[in-house]
Amino acid sequence: MILVTGGAGYIGSHCVMALLEKGFEVIIFDNLSTGHIETVQTLQNYGNLRFVQGDLLNQCDLKSLFEQNNIDAVIHFAAFSQVAESVKNPKKYYINNVVGTLNLLNAMLDHNVKNIVFSSTAATYGEPVYTPIDEKHPQNPINPYGQTKLTIEKIMDDYNKAYSLKSVRLRYFNVAGADSKSRIGEWHDPETHLIPNILKSTFSGGKTFQMFGDDYNTKDGTCVRDYINVEDLANAHLLALKYLENGGETNYFNLGTNEGNTVKEVFALCEKVTNREIPIEIKPRRQGDPAVLVADNKKAKEVLGWQPEKTLENSIQSAYDWEKILQNRLK
Ligand code: UDP
Repeated sequence: MILVTGGAGYIGSHCVMALLEKGFEVIIFDNLSTGHIETVQTLQNYGNLRFVQGDLLNQCDLKSLFEQNNIDAVIHFAAFSQVAESVKNPKKYYINNVVGTLNLLNAMLDHNVKNIVFSSTAATYGEPVYTPIDEKHPQNPINPYGQTKLTIEKIMDDYNKAYSLKSVRLRYFNVAGADSKSRIGEWHDPETHLIPNILKSTFSGGKTFQMFGDDYNTKDGTCVRDYINVEDLANAHLLALKYLENGGETNYFNLGTNEGNTVKEVFALCEKVTNREIPIEIKPRRQGDPAVLVADNKKAKEVLGWQPEKTLENSIQSAYDWEKILQNRLK
């Protein structure tokens, strides 16, 4: 049985869907602070899925989780992930992300579970020194969110050396899109990400889309990001799990497409997919946004045999299909 923490959230739920479709038995552990029970209920239609509502900060929850279930490996998504909030309230992030993960790792040790796939981030690299960013790029996070993820990576290195607890850390670039059958998708409140924010502004009552900065040193003045499809990302987790099951050593990989798109390019593609002229307001730069973030994904391709398959337009289309369903549900 695979334990997925944070499986009721955006990326976690897509990974659970991929696991269930491959026939894995899955248990989701989630405190539903940002995830949704409706997502879990949808997932339960697609395979052998148990759900436990619990918190990584609660040692009793964790103890009974590991005692009552035969867990073979862990995929760990549960975390707070809003950069701006982490700057305002680092305590919340260090306690939840770092202490929560420590409790999880210790519970794994107590119950002899030795493999974990961890949801890390390009934010561990900080301001890029060069692009595309490979795994050798220095890690100097510029916000508490990135710092929590880097701290966890370092803890995982020490736990590997001392206790042979094996980890694969997947450093995501910009995750985009939804399930291609529109069963689940991105559902954040508040939403801060680019693509859902552009799409939301096309629905009645939606706010005008705000573009943060058009004076960057890039080809059209807007930030360049590497948008990786969430289903492609989910597949990488399955490959990482297989890598560990096959005796792979502790490792870390960038997950991105090797290609960058500007905010203006994403916006134009959203207009194309939705077939609408979308209202836009140019705002000042958002604090902490580097001009360019693009992944070098060679290592994940070579070692994990991973290959992203979806285009940015595919991601925007699936995000739009899902957003229509979500808007209807929230009416
Ligand atoms: N962005 C924007 N308007 C929004 C949300 C994001 O212009 O409502 C820009 C943001 O400044 C960045 C890019 O879109 O340049 C991607 O931001 P997002 O928050 O999606 O991901 P991040 O790169 O921060 O992880």
